[in-house]
Amino acid sequence: MKSALYLFLLATLVAIPSPSQSADVFKYTPITHATFVLQAGATTIYVDPVGDAAAFSGFPPPDLILITHIHKDHLAPELIGALRREGTALIGPATVIEQLPAGAVMNNGDNLEIAGLKIEAIPAYNTTPERLNFHPQGRDNGYVLEKEGVRLYISGDTEDIPEMRALKNIDIAFVCMNLPFTMTVEQAASAVNAFKPKTVIPYHYRGKEGMSDLDTFAQLVSTAAVERLKWY
Ligand SMILES: [Zn+2]
Repeated sequence: MKSALYLFLLATLVAIPSPSQSADVFKYTPITHATFVLQAGATTIYVDPVGDAAAFSGFPPPDLILITHIHKDHLAPELIGALRREGTALIGPATVIEQLPAGAVMNNGDNLEIAGLKIEAIPAYNTTPERLNFHPQGRDNGYVLEKEGVRLYISGDTEDIPEMRALKNIDIAFVCMNLPFTMTVEQAASAVNAFKPKTVIPYHYRGKEGMSDLDTFAQLVSTAAVERLKWY
């Protein structure tokens, strides 16, 4: 009797989700720079789709196209027109949606639930005086997506703002780092060490000043696993 109970308890323990479960809830495939495909169960999300439509031909059509801001490495209205199907939800800040024939506006702080996916729009902006014109505060979004308790953050184009540093319980974080448009690897690592995602994925790391040094970034990150994907 006792051993049966023990076996039952052991089975219960074994069934406790392990951290690798995150990877099962969200599957992600880089396309380029800031563009990627996220699959959350049966839901397919294209994030900031730009470039050639052929790059998306191996994926299901999008249930959701999520756009962070108006710059052309993030927003391509013609491509969105080619990729979207009847029923595809388009989500972005007001300055994005006004350039599209349809879509749902999410501005900083807004929340939405779609297909079992919770979405929160997180601010994304520059703070360094000479970079303020790139991404002024209040215009652009990052996002936190949550499904089955797993939380995935997409930074958008931003510096290491307080709103990023204060994020809670992030399993997977896509964090930008390029100059002069967003932030240094030191800023990015400092933010990551503050909000402590389980896994951080550097993206959007090519800038006018070349590729950011991901080795330095990885050395500076002390609180998260760094996962490198092939963006370029
Ligand atoms: Zn960008």
